[in-house]
Amino acid sequence: MRTTTVVIGAGHAGLAMSWCLAKRSIDHVVLERGEVANSWRSERWDSLRLLTPNWQSRLPGYGYEGDDPDGFRTMPETIAFIKRYAAVISAPVRTQTNVTSVRPSGDGYEVATNQGVWQCQTVVLASGACNIAQVPVVAEAVPPDITTLTPMQYHRPSQLADGGVLVVGASATGTQIADEIHRSGRPVTLAVGEHVRVPRVYRDKDIQWWMDAAGVLDERYDEVDDIVRARNVPSLQLGGSPERRTVDLNSLTRIGVKLIGRLAGINNGKAQFSGSLRNQCALADLKMNRLLGAIDEWATKNGLDSEVSPPHRFEPTEVEASPPLGIDLTRGEIKTVVWATGFRPDYSWLDVPVLDRKGRVRHDGGVVEAPGMYLMGIPFLRRRKSSLIDGAGDDARDLSAHLASYLGAQTSAQRPERQALSR
Ligand SMILES: Cc1cc2nc3c(=O)[nH]c(=O)nc-3n(C[C@H](O)[C@H](O)[C@H](O)COP(=O)(O)OP(=O)(O)OC[C@H]3O[C@@H](n4cnc5c(N)ncnc54)[C@H](O)[C@@H]3O)c2cc1C
Repeated sequence: MRTTTVVIGAGHAGLAMSWCLAKRSIDHVVLERGEVANSWRSERWDSLRLLTPNWQSRLPGYGYEGDDPDGFRTMPETIAFIKRYAAVISAPVRTQTNVTSVRPSGDGYEVATNQGVWQCQTVVLASGACNIAQVPVVAEAVPPDITTLTPMQYHRPSQLADGGVLVVGASATGTQIADEIHRSGRPVTLAVGEHVRVPRVYRDKDIQWWMDAAGVLDERYDEVDDIVRARNVPSLQLGGSPERRTVDLNSLTRIGVKLIGRLAGINNGKAQFSGSLRNQCALADLKMNRLLGAIDEWATKNGLDSEVSPPHRFEPTEVEASPPLGIDLTRGEIKTVVWATGFRPDYSWLDVPVLDRKGRVRHDGGVVEAPGMYLMGIPFLRRRKSSLIDGAGDDARDLSAHLASYLGAQTSAQRPERQALSR
């Protein structure tokens, strides 16, 4: 089988790229190992809602048309939204088509799947940034009678044994799961490392509204001082709920969740935690206040002060004077450990030498270091919003333009050869 471009993955990023390729009349297929929106179907917990409001899921050629722009989609709603997008744009998706290898072939690529082999000139890797849950090496030292789960294996509190739960990691996933499990009656201890604190609502508006309006989410990858660092910043400590609840460390402490430092190691069944909790929290408070300061400045500059409530600051994160530095996991108080320690992509099928030592694709704003290969959906790929649904449109527009000019250059390079052959 032959096509000009193979897009791997029918999440929103692959579909946004498909829309842009179709607009440029570039022949392509979108190969998907499961069904459209597979990650949202099979890799998320039941109660998850998007942490971005409905209005903020703008995809090229498709926006929100419902009557609740400020609401947060449930998982079934998110799946339906992405499925509808694929249908509206008539994306040429081949579902149940697992890509097993991509390798250079001639002046393009050979893409092998469980449904046959494709030859193409260009490839777009839109296979997702969160295919594998990252679990620290110390996980191996957890005593065997404790159940350990990743967020991809966690669905709901009732699947857990009664008793204490240690949630490791306090970004969006860890704080939301800690909140839900603790409310189910299982006492939660939350191990907190570096995190990014933001309020759900500030001066009457959603924090995402402020960051979008003030251009924070549009900041480009070639404008930040340290892009490697920016690409590794933890996700915002944020959750979506009908009540627009702020889920942060203070809200968790109020319901009884116990905060503890970053998990540093496990020795003979004893978990050891860093003494940096207070500093980590102070740093997160400082950074949040810096963001709020920038928002206030922007609001004043843009004449919004009379339309919203005045600037204010939130209570600093409350931390126990001397939080414990260890938990004896052999004592039976902790029955489950949840590793909310991040996610990473899986490129085990990519037989092109473009991965760095850490297994990340080497690229410049999504233009991969291999001719005719592109990347989508990775944190801060081209903009701060790149890994959000709302970020795929601008990235797909930019990268499809690059892809089109690459194809154009290839065609003109081949023309003299063809003319020579025909003479
Ligand atoms: C827990 C969680 C919550 C999030 N919440 C939000 C949110 O509220 N708002 C927001 O905007 N973003 C959110 N995100 C971030 C982001 O939207 C998701 O990571 C999103 O799924 C990325 O979209 P994508 O299209 O790049 O990748 P995915 O949606 O992961 O799509 C990639 C597709 O590629 C397919 N695939 C992978 N490998 C292969 C292969 N070898 N062959 C064929 N197909 C393959 C997968 O099956 C999948 O369907 C969240 C992410 C996570 C993990």
